[in-house]
Amino acid sequence: MALLQITEPGLSTAPHEHRLAAGIDLGTTNSLVATVRSGSATVLPDRDGVQLLPSVVRYLPDGAHLVGAEASARAVSDPLNTISSVKRFMGRGVEDIERLGSSLPYAFVAGASGMPLIHTAAGDRSPVQVSADILSVLRQRVEATLGGELTGVVITVPAYFDDAQRQATKDAGRLAGLKVLRLLNEPTAAAVAYGLDHSAGGTVVIYDLGGGTFDVSILRLNQGVFEVLATAGNTALGGDDMDRLIAGWIMQQAGVSDAVGHSLQRRLLQAARRIKETLTETGTGAVPVSLELEDGRTWEGELDRPQMNELIDPLIRKTLAPCRRTLRDAGIAVDEVDEVVMVGGSTRVPRVRELVTEFFSRELLVDIDPDKVVAIGAAIQADILAGNKPEDEMLLLDVIPLSLGIETMGGLSEKIIPRNTTIPVARAQEFTTFKDGQTAMALHVLQGERELVDDCRSLARFELRGIPPMTAGAARIRVTFQVDADGLLGVTAEEQTSGIRAHIEVRPSYGLTDNEIETMLRDSMEHSREDMDARRLREVQVEADRVLEALQAAVQEDGDRFLDAQERAAIDQAAQALSTASGGEDHRAIKKAIEAVEAASAAYVEHRMNANIQKAMAGHSVDEFKR
Ligand code: ADP
Ligand code: MG
Repeated sequence: MALLQITEPGLSTAPHEHRLAAGIDLGTTNSLVATVRSGSATVLPDRDGVQLLPSVVRYLPDGAHLVGAEASARAVSDPLNTISSVKRFMGRGVEDIERLGSSLPYAFVAGASGMPLIHTAAGDRSPVQVSADILSVLRQRVEATLGGELTGVVITVPAYFDDAQRQATKDAGRLAGLKVLRLLNEPTAAAVAYGLDHSAGGTVVIYDLGGGTFDVSILRLNQGVFEVLATAGNTALGGDDMDRLIAGWIMQQAGVSDAVGHSLQRRLLQAARRIKETLTETGTGAVPVSLELEDGRTWEGELDRPQMNELIDPLIRKTLAPCRRTLRDAGIAVDEVDEVVMVGGSTRVPRVRELVTEFFSRELLVDIDPDKVVAIGAAIQADILAGNKPEDEMLLLDVIPLSLGIETMGGLSEKIIPRNTTIPVARAQEFTTFKDGQTAMALHVLQGERELVDDCRSLARFELRGIPPMTAGAARIRVTFQVDADGLLGVTAEEQTSGIRAHIEVRPSYGLTDNEIETMLRDSMEHSREDMDARRLREVQVEADRVLEALQAAVQEDGDRFLDAQERAAIDQAAQALSTASGGEDHRAIKKAIEAVEAASAAYVEHRMNANIQKAMAGHSVDEFKR
């Protein structure tokens, strides 16, 4: 998740031929689309001049659907058919969704592939389809405004999105008839919008407080490469929670109980949101509130900024813990931060800015509208990718957040692509067979920093079959990991002599949350020492197994011929000692025992080798060996 500047050959076109490209922020709460026109990026409004499209879709019994404000207006009265925050379900399996909580208002059903579908009046819809319905509206908006067909789009995703979530987002784009030029991390897009990729370098914090989620990322810009040093956040913290706190205050003031009906609940939240936004925009003074209650009474009151601040203060302070954690994880002191970029509609709230300014002791970057900054960065990227810039313009690329690797003998993870490698990337490594005559190989693709497979995340398993039988260690199997520009992984295994191959596209069904990624990274740092020890032990145990297995096979084949009773007893004893040592935890003892077995069997091995050479030559004429 860092950025690398490269030029992309073949995409540049003649300058007069401007191609329509757009950047889309497909948000949990709001989505929007921006494009570069006459050199500057602007967010495109709908026909009524509204730029933010609420990420809500309502499905109707006749099969039709509504998107945006029209849909969200009925969220309370028609909850089962009005889908909001669908981004939370993208690329997730049924189990993940169960974990997200029982409070979800939708009826989920398992689809054919085990992926969850939402049951609506218009039929079952996957999260991908719901997102595609949102994207379609944005696509129509661009094409209507600019009068032409889109060449391609860049869609933003949270930095912590995994393969499955990224793939789902890409699929949604395709389903909406869009050519997805690239997925871009949201914090990266925000940094691009501020032109920080053209700055000399430094450490950038992206503080993103949206409607329902909070994310903080620390990026380091180094010679055109943005590296994500750390990310953290809270997937259940945002502006909606401020609304709930203010609504709670009104209820308390008005003396209404918690058990209010849907209608009042909705009006309470709407009132709360209006108060919040008004107090945000208009500095001082109290905002009057009047609310018709269920018993027909009308409650009238007012709220001012200090009162609101008091209500939401604890919530804002909750965002500071992840900030502290990311700094610690990144090994950065607060005073080493060069820029703090504010992203997300909720960072308009002055109290948020105050507390964040105080925390980082620095002026914040707020000049670009915080709810538009991500779309604007995406539009700038899209413009370059579509080929509207001179050839020397640079492109930004991301890096992978967690290392990708493969399971090797002994339950160890062999890293093929280390974390923070810029993408797209392809890396290959050769592996071999463990047993004589082995004709198939099981490949287990892993994600994570830890040494042991059990501590990594399993992404996929597949098999390479039809390997020609050879002695152990002779086969050469080349395993190639390829990650495309969107962070999607393809793994290919190919046996070099026969050319047989197997391939898999990794689309894991269960996503990782940002917190899980963070935990995985932290674990790997905490355990690196014991992991190295565990690795050394496993490696030597595997070696012990191999030695014992080879010895046993040999003795069975020709032990009677080459070994007398005394030699045989010495070898058996050494083998027994090795087998015992290998069951223990002392890697040095195992190593010694291996050496003892090798010493005890040295003469025998030499006899065998000589005999085998003679055997091999016996069937051939001398001429054959001259060629
Ligand atoms: P997301 O990234 O989750 O899609 P946004 O960045 O669009 O969300 O942020 C939406 C949140 O921003 C909502 O909670 C909304 O109330 C809040 N918000 C938008 N404008 C204002 C404002 N003027 N004052 C306070 N909060 C605002
Ligand atoms: Mg957002």
